[in-house]
Amino acid sequence: MNRILIVEDEVRIASFIEKGLRAEGYTPTVVADGMSGLDYAVSGEFDLAIIDIGLPRMDGFTVLQKMREMGSAIPVIVLTARDSVADTVRGLEGGADDYMPKPFRFAELIARVRLRLRPRSGADEEQTLLTRGNIALNLLRREVTVADRPVELSAREFALAEMFLRHPGQVLSREQLLSHVWGYEFDPGSNVVDVYVGYLRKKLGGKLIKTVRGTGYRLDS
Ligand code: CA
Repeated sequence: MNRILIVEDEVRIASFIEKGLRAEGYTPTVVADGMSGLDYAVSGEFDLAIIDIGLPRMDGFTVLQKMREMGSAIPVIVLTARDSVADTVRGLEGGADDYMPKPFRFAELIARVRLRLRPRSGADEEQTLLTRGNIALNLLRREVTVADRPVELSAREFALAEMFLRHPGQVLSREQLLSHVWGYEFDPGSNVVDVYVGYLRKKLGGKLIKTVRGTGYRLDS
């Protein structure tokens, strides 16, 4: 269970965040001024802190600066007015991990919280997901979905789809696709690429992969 510190003096916002986090299974603690916020933040009892900039007794800039000076490395999401995000980013000089412009929807905040709390392996998993339009390729699990429905691809089809999704909008020649998916030993005169592009179009939707005459294929970006 993740413990999250909320440093926010506006009761309405603090309670909105607190309730939302609790509903998502986190353990939030609310503190309403900067001095207490700093004490709590460096206590080692929290996995993440959400800190407002405008706070009584010590502003959010100072809280974050002192936290970092005191060696606290927990992820920090800073709450700031929408029109002063640029100033805030400058003021914090990279000390914060993320910024949440006010007003915000809870969905936006929770997405940032999840991102910051995710273990290292989660970051790797993020990179194993390729998406384009309604197509999603999970490179780790070798799974493909189109509009959230699973689609069966052979190993070659999967490799071909991966090549397209890694290079959206780029013209890929038959030779490139052939060497990437089938290996350089394959006969360049073979029409195997065209055949497999045909299979992919059937499975992923016909309009996505365009034929570029005389050159190859392109995934519409
Ligand atoms: Ca405030």
